[in-house]
Amino acid sequence: QAKLRQRGGVRFYSEQHVPRYRQELELEARLREAIAADTLLPYFQPIVNADSGQIVCVEALVRWPQANGMVSPAAFLPVAEAAGLLPGLERLVRRKALATVRAWHDEGLLVQLSLNVSAAEFDSPHFVGELAMLVREARLQPSMLVLEITEGAVLGNQDAAQARMQQLQASGYRIAIDDFGTGYSSLSYLHSYPFDRLKLDRSFVARLTHDERARKVTAAIIAMAHELSLVVIAEGVEEAAQLAMLQAMGCNQVQGFHLHRPLSAQALGELMRHLRVQQPVMP
Ligand code: C2E
Ligand code: MG
Ligand code: MG
Ligand code: MG
Repeated sequence: QAKLRQRGGVRFYSEQHVPRYRQELELEARLREAIAADTLLPYFQPIVNADSGQIVCVEALVRWPQANGMVSPAAFLPVAEAAGLLPGLERLVRRKALATVRAWHDEGLLVQLSLNVSAAEFDSPHFVGELAMLVREARLQPSMLVLEITEGAVLGNQDAAQARMQQLQASGYRIAIDDFGTGYSSLSYLHSYPFDRLKLDRSFVARLTHDERARKVTAAIIAMAHELSLVVIAEGVEEAAQLAMLQAMGCNQVQGFHLHRPLSAQALGELMRHLRVQQPVMP
């Protein structure tokens, strides 16, 4: 049965399915407890200027601390979403992320904050108002925030998505298309939606050093994005050789384990103090 199930993602209600379902329910129950106890927290991964290496932005990535380490968001975000827990979870984690960045700004550590916005959230009529409230509460300018949106989030209602993006931009938020190149119609999104930034998916970066065609495609995407005045950020930079190629292609910002791993607020605060990140914010 396990073998069958791997093929084509068809769901089989086999005996083996039952324990997996139970596992999900248990995860959901534990997640509810974690949200109620407010134990979820943001980690922050630096995004650096590709040429200077200066930290210009930090991406908030939710973490669920457990006795034996951290659970990956890939494991619990789908469960949270299916159980309707995502809005509450987002609110708690974002409030912490915004408060952390507020405290950094008070120290002169001026970095932008990048937030992942889920499809359901982006669809919600409450999204813009709730975000504005949290941002005001943290006394941050919307221009200090980057909202990362995936293609999936704008797939449903194109007109509504376009209008929402324009509304957010008019308020000063920066908007990035996340995981660019992994969707079905990436190119058509570029002319249909008013993005400011393009985050090149790490699958492109991973192929750079050994795949000539991938290299050409990546160079072309970067050139095209620049024609559209988009800031290009490469994700998942793990090697010096990848960084060198991206620099040569004119990529603006980079993010990845070769530069910095996601860090706790405390660890990143210490790092930035050490690096004395006090450069002016990029437009
Ligand atoms: P993403 O937005 O594309 O975030 C980047 C992911 O790549 C993060 O995984 C990060 O830890 C990982 N990463 C960074 N550099 C490297 C690298 O050099 N190599 C490799 N292999 N991976 C790298 P993470 O934290 O597990 O998050 C996974 C996804 O979950 C994110 O992908 C994002 O879509 C979603 N996510 C994370 N936190 C939140 C959140 O608070 N809210 C929402 N809605 N989604 C979130
Ligand atoms: Mg992201
Ligand atoms: Mg991404
Ligand atoms: Mg990604």
